Amino acid sequence: MRIDVLGVGFDNLTMDQAVAEAQRLIASPDSHYIVTPNPEIVELCREDKSLLETVNAADMVLPDGIGIYYGAKLLGTPLRARLPGIDFAAHLMDAMAKKRQSLFLLGAKPGVAERAAEKLRRAHPGLLIAGTADGYFKDDARAAETIRASGADVAFVCLGAPKQELWMAAHAGETGPCLLIGLGGCLDVFSGDVKRAPVLFQRLGLEWFHRLLSDPRRLGRMMKLPRFMLHVLREK
Ligand code: UDP
Repeated sequence: MRIDVLGVGFDNLTMDQAVAEAQRLIASPDSHYIVTPNPEIVELCREDKSLLETVNAADMVLPDGIGIYYGAKLLGTPLRARLPGIDFAAHLMDAMAKKRQSLFLLGAKPGVAERAAEKLRRAHPGLLIAGTADGYFKDDARAAETIRASGADVAFVCLGAPKQELWMAAHAGETGPCLLIGLGGCLDVFSGDVKRAPVLFQRLGLEWFHRLLSDPRRLGRMMKLPRFMLHVLREK
């Protein structure tokens, strides 16, 4: 059962449950995709019905970030946990490493995915990297075929929102039995190109504030956050 936050249905799971569900999807012979919406994406979904349908059609919808968590709470339907996409990815890679499963990294500027692969291999011994490709490709079918040919169990699709959600929905059928996960700017963090907020900021739910301080160009995008809160209050 999903918890509705302004039209987007979020799976109400703990981290362990989300990882177990991802493993179930990996074991199934079909392709699947997981989305990790934040308030910005929920606002985009409010403006674009087909994006909303794409997000809600995902096999798992995880609440990335504090805004969704508080939004659900304010609406009287609290979520069990907030599951930042990057933390979910780390937990899943631990589980994958134990089973010697393989991962494809798609996205970010040229060179970033390769650097991320090196670091992830070291951080999760046993994890197999099936391949990498940057996120500025022109040929969608070829990118999907590269994932299929790699035989990866899982692919992190890091093209930014809403590009990655639309790409996964359109091409999941071409990637073979692979679990696609939309993870925004995660590869930039895994590669070490972008520093994640200090743990204290993460604990206090202020990661978004740290991101704003380190990249003030995000201000325009972040104006969606107060709008999201306003819409939640109106809905309440
Ligand atoms: N990106 C990409 N292809 C594109 C547009 C963006 O690979 O056509 C990458 C970009 O280089 C960055 C990521 O997508 O690595 C988006 O990061 P951002 O921090 O904006 O995502 P968020 O986590 O905020 O959704």
